[in-house]
Amino acid sequence: MNPYYKDYSEYLRERFGEVKVQKLSVDAGFSCPNRDGTISRGGCIYCDNRSFTPSYCDPADGVARQLAEGKRFFARKYPQMKYLAYFQSFTGTHARALPALRALYEEAASQTDIVGLIIGTRPDALPDGVVDMLAELNRRLPVIVEIGAETSHDRTLSLVNRCHTWSDVAEAVKRLDNVGIESGLHLIAGLPGEDDDDVLTTVERALRLPVATLKLHQLQVVAGTPLYRMMERGEIAVNPYDLDSYLDLCVRVVERVRELRPDVALERFVAQAPPEMVVAPKWGIKNYQFVNLLHRRLSKS
Ligand code: SF4
Repeated sequence: MNPYYKDYSEYLRERFGEVKVQKLSVDAGFSCPNRDGTISRGGCIYCDNRSFTPSYCDPADGVARQLAEGKRFFARKYPQMKYLAYFQSFTGTHARALPALRALYEEAASQTDIVGLIIGTRPDALPDGVVDMLAELNRRLPVIVEIGAETSHDRTLSLVNRCHTWSDVAEAVKRLDNVGIESGLHLIAGLPGEDDDDVLTTVERALRLPVATLKLHQLQVVAGTPLYRMMERGEIAVNPYDLDSYLDLCVRVVERVRELRPDVALERFVAQAPPEMVVAPKWGIKNYQFVNLLHRRLSKS
């Protein structure tokens, strides 16, 4: 039991009971409207999907096979484990047609030991037809939507070419909540032009929405991204967090959550792109190691 804040395992226990539940990433071959020309071709300036898609996920394998491979890996150690199919890559609601999207979700939902779906998406990729379909699925098995919000500051969203606004995020969370779907927001600390107070303002704004979880991580500059090139050309200033300053920030984030919405679960604090892809910051630390350091700090605060 985490004595400092509600963590993700507590959230999963509340939703799924004592049985151990593990997310299994699936790459269903989605694109992203911010890349394929639906709204833009540039993508978010920091984005390289290879940095957060597990290498074992290959859309050519199909949904069922990817889930079977993931289950094989975990079942050796935890035979009783149940699983959540996690549509993580690109925009997990962005399919050409609704029936095709439904077929992918249904395929995942029908696999043995899959007890829920987690769908990662953008706030502007949830048209009414998709929300209605998710609501219908959610009546059969839990569906949780993770929305990439990144920041509540529209000037930053514009600078990093997110091509949506904070009000899009707020509206998406509320529409999902209206149909009984729990959602979580994904936030980034250290975006260009933002300081600790900007991040804490974003956290406070997020906590005013009916969200169930928050996921925060440090901005990583990944080689080859537009952000990296802009930084190299001196067109944008990036001040990556050092580990100590980021720990300080996370202590303040936890304090805000405890004060305003202790029911909101904090899923993770650290992004871990493959080290050879990351230009900065180079902490060489995994999420669980960071969490240990954070807990040590929280025990003294
Ligand atoms: S971060 Fe997400 S929304 Fe942005 S370009 Fe990458 S996949 Fe698309």
